[in-house]
Amino acid sequence: MSRFTLAIHGGAGTILKEDMTPELEQAYLLALQEALHAGYAVLEEGGSAINAIKATIVIMEDNILFNAGRGSVFTKKGVQEMDAAIMDGRTLDAGAVTGIRNIRNPIELATEVMTHSNHVFLSGKGASDFAIKQGVKMEPDEYFFSQFRYDQWRAIRDSDAYSLDHTHQKLEELMKDKKFGTVGAVACDRQGNIAAATSTGGMTNKKYGRIGDSPMIGSGTYANNNTCGISCTGHGEMFIRTVAAHDVSCLMEYKGLSLEEAMRIVVDEKLVAIGGEGGMIGVDSKGNAALVFNSLGMYRGVRSSDGTDTVAIYK
Ligand code: ASP
Repeated sequence: MSRFTLAIHGGAGTILKEDMTPELEQAYLLALQEALHAGYAVLEEGGSAINAIKATIVIMEDNILFNAGRGSVFTKKGVQEMDAAIMDGRTLDAGAVTGIRNIRNPIELATEVMTHSNHVFLSGKGASDFAIKQGVKMEPDEYFFSQFRYDQWRAIRDSDAYSLDHTHQKLEELMKDKKFGTVGAVACDRQGNIAAATSTGGMTNKKYGRIGDSPMIGSGTYANNNTCGISCTGHGEMFIRTVAAHDVSCLMEYKGLSLEEAMRIVVDEKLVAIGGEGGMIGVDSKGNAALVFNSLGMYRGVRSSDGTDTVAIYK
């Protein structure tokens, strides 16, 4: 029996201990543990990597603490639009959705796209029509509402904060508070099959139908049994420009680097070179895991059949 492993993240960014209350810190650690253990239980029972990461992501989407599903951030127009992607490293099957609203678990819809459509990536209204056809669970706007995310948005909605203009005092404050609460999971099951998934509300105050890296296969999410499974979190534009998740796979495949070596090149060198703040989690088919970030913190956890079982927040 080979080693099986699950790794998760709940977003990266300027996450500092001094900004956190003990209660909130505890709530995040418990939420990470709950999601990690639920997915790991699937692997332990002999379930597939795909089913393990799905079980994990659903729990995180349902938790208002994370910027995915319930608790997603608000767009410039004051609504919540979500993105998600899932990929099966055994077959290279993938499904993704973007700009979707009122879908309780965006990862369920991404999985439906992967398994029950002839397509990989659906957006907005079309994705909603498909969700209705597949009987995917919907919720009213109130279900997704979080006062914290709403206040975050209200503080910047009249600015062009998304341009990240550092010269503006108020924006500097905002940047200090920069946290990317996206969720992600990667797993390697007993058979050595790999899968990866990411789900997010995107970035606060996003506009013009902006799409981040999370649902883009190869940028924020990628899985291939021959190399790795990767889920990213951070400033999506930079992860798109570096095709971050797939680049890790390429470095492993073409250069023979280990998972962690490849992830470090992408996160600490290539992303840093263009100001890309964030991180990623990865597994390989031997059950090795790595959790790498260039920000001050990343909500994260890893559990493996070798006995590893940890959750953490800060650097
Ligand atoms: N990467 C996501 C995006 O740009 C945000 C995040 O990771 O929280 O949409």
